[in-house]
Amino acid sequence: MLPWRTYEAMQDAARNQPEQFWLSAAQRITWKQAPKSACQTRADGWHDWFPGGTLNTCHNAVDRHVEGGRGEQAALIWHSCATMERQIVSYRELRGRVAGFAGGLRSLGVGKGDRVLVAMPSMVETVIAMLACARIGAVHVVVFAGYAGPELARRIDDVAPKVVIIASCSFQGQMPIPSAPILNDALARATHTPQACIIAQRAGCKASPLSVRDHDFHTLEHSTPVKPVPLRSEDPLYILHTSGTTGNAKGIVRDNGGHAVALALSMELIYGCKPGDTFFTTSDLGWVVGHSYGVYAPLISGCTSVIVEGGASASAIRALCHEHKVKCLFTTPTQMRLMRRESRHLSGVILPALARIFVAGEYADPTLLAWARSYFSKPVVNHWWQTETGWSITAHFFGLPEREPVACMNDIGRPAPGFCPQIVPSMPGEQCGEIVLSLPLPPGCLAGVWQGREICAPTAYLDKTGRYYRTFDEGMIEANRAVSMLGRSDDVIKVAGRRISGVQIEKVIATHAAVHACAVVAIPDALRGQRPVAYVVADPAVASTPTSEGIVARVNEVLGRWIGLKEVRFVKQLPTTVSGKITRKRLLVS
Ligand code: AMP
Repeated sequence: MLPWRTYEAMQDAARNQPEQFWLSAAQRITWKQAPKSACQTRADGWHDWFPGGTLNTCHNAVDRHVEGGRGEQAALIWHSCATMERQIVSYRELRGRVAGFAGGLRSLGVGKGDRVLVAMPSMVETVIAMLACARIGAVHVVVFAGYAGPELARRIDDVAPKVVIIASCSFQGQMPIPSAPILNDALARATHTPQACIIAQRAGCKASPLSVRDHDFHTLEHSTPVKPVPLRSEDPLYILHTSGTTGNAKGIVRDNGGHAVALALSMELIYGCKPGDTFFTTSDLGWVVGHSYGVYAPLISGCTSVIVEGGASASAIRALCHEHKVKCLFTTPTQMRLMRRESRHLSGVILPALARIFVAGEYADPTLLAWARSYFSKPVVNHWWQTETGWSITAHFFGLPEREPVACMNDIGRPAPGFCPQIVPSMPGEQCGEIVLSLPLPPGCLAGVWQGREICAPTAYLDKTGRYYRTFDEGMIEANRAVSMLGRSDDVIKVAGRRISGVQIEKVIATHAAVHACAVVAIPDALRGQRPVAYVVADPAVASTPTSEGIVARVNEVLGRWIGLKEVRFVKQLPTTVSGKITRKRLLVS
């Protein structure tokens, strides 16, 4: 039970008495040695959370629930949209499989601090591999299974893993893609050679032999089980590479203690979940949302986590929500747009157990959120995230009894505890600008970056004063602390000295009933410096077709002619990153 009635009371506690606030939040976790202080500045200037505390994240995510009477509850429900297979794994079964596989890793020489690279699709085995690493203090590095050899080789060389784990194949749609040739290619390119590889064989697609000694995943699961080892709170749990949308992919390091505390608190405070509830995230496990809310947060909180392999259709999402009595659904705006496309002409759905839906990862226009609210007849909210932060910077707080003002619901919400955003105005006197966060960042955020095979302070993210973390996102803060998001700093368009974010223009274009998706980018203009160009994907399910003139007229009417939108290019689809985010920069070169 949370001790605050209102958002303001919660924020006052977090800001005025941070030590007390976080030590009390830490009580959600089972510690071997409880921490006596919350935060401490490190020699390199960055911060450690819960120094002196020792714990094991795997014990918190699995064993303690079995010991606490949840052994027969489903921990994981897995559905493959590629093969239509399903698996339900109870907490007891998960403990057995993880403890055995951890023993298998140990038999291969993997120990505390060693890196284990996991290049698998979203499968039960991926979760087992992650938790087994956590159990023995090894650092997992999960990478997207769809990467080709060169991309995989870069990550192998970056983290120098002792062991690499793959599945015999991943899927592109329904088509199996054998993983062994990709790994062999990566190993031939990489300078680092892992000691061993592990293959999880999948029905109907056997892996060909690897160029490094390989072992069978399911055989290793039957190794002598090992117990969770106590780790220092600040010991690394995992490294996760950013998607590389802004520069080179950086290895973000997450600790054990701060991560566990932040995620456990967020489940209650933000998502309004309690033990026994079912949480469903559609994200691939290779991305941060998959790590945080596909695996760690629901399991640490004793919930059931629904995970999917491949892109789930609207009907599959509805069916899973219905069948497994999902309480919270966490998805992306892109996935939501696909749901709208598939279900535009269908009447709404009735999902009695579903309490609320969350989206994150990219801009969600209010028109889309309004559609989702009327279709599901549930609250649908957006919240703001980064791989670096590991949980949401701003959010809506369903665990608090206070009702949030409806006006906030369309935006990314208000700061989560411990996040103190400020705006650095882009031009003197302006209200909007880059959002920076004062230090220290709350627990759960990056504990450092992986550089030269060491954990370093993330100095590349600091402003000139060294006192603020730069988010590289633009926005503004309202009087009630609600943050409005305007997109990445480099997506802002300067027209004749006046600034407008592409997102503000996209918001207007998205109100057109026949627009499925859109993206606005800036191109050079001899007279005005820059001008916007809109790329629009029409919705084939809607009878009327959007026209260039209609869209320009709508933008002029809402935002003014000074915007100078003259060009609308109709395209079949927008380019996206492998994690499904629209990459506006690629439109400029197309
Ligand atoms: P990633 O680290 O790949 O998850 O990307 C993080 C970036 O995605 C953020 O810095 C934002 O630019 C964008 N982003 C995440 N959540 C939202 C959101 N709710 N609304 C708008 N943009 C978002």
